[in-house]
Amino acid sequence: MLRWGDIIAYAKYSNPEPEKRIEKTEEQWQQILLPDQFRILRLKETESPYRNAYCRLYEPGIYVCAGCGNYLFYSKEKYHAISGWPSFTQPISKGAIKYIFDNSYNMNRIEVQCNVCSGHLGHVFPDGPKLGGLRYCINSASMVLLKS
Ligand code: FE
Repeated sequence: MLRWGDIIAYAKYSNPEPEKRIEKTEEQWQQILLPDQFRILRLKETESPYRNAYCRLYEPGIYVCAGCGNYLFYSKEKYHAISGWPSFTQPISKGAIKYIFDNSYNMNRIEVQCNVCSGHLGHVFPDGPKLGGLRYCINSASMVLLKS
């Protein structure tokens, strides 16, 4: 189980090794992604709270990266965070996600990216429930739910 100290250490020193890496030019990404997926995964924009596909959805399955299919989160780790975005307590594996310090908009946050394709997913915060205390706040459009 990852805790906040692990996240800080990843961002500060080095991220876990992914199983593989996928790299494309931004032009190639633009051709294969839907417009909303491209804006979030590649341009790091944020979708509207509540008006997004997975905020209130609690169907069982696996959330994968909309860019490359990398497995990101189990639905059993999803919880209602009252933030307006789908929120998770833990990633599917340590190597699934990478962590980057993000000081944009005068905030000190930690950005989470897909560790395989470096697509922007959202941010992680230390105010989550359960033992790990993490809240992964993720844009719906950066993921696809594979229902089980
Ligand atoms: Fe990806």
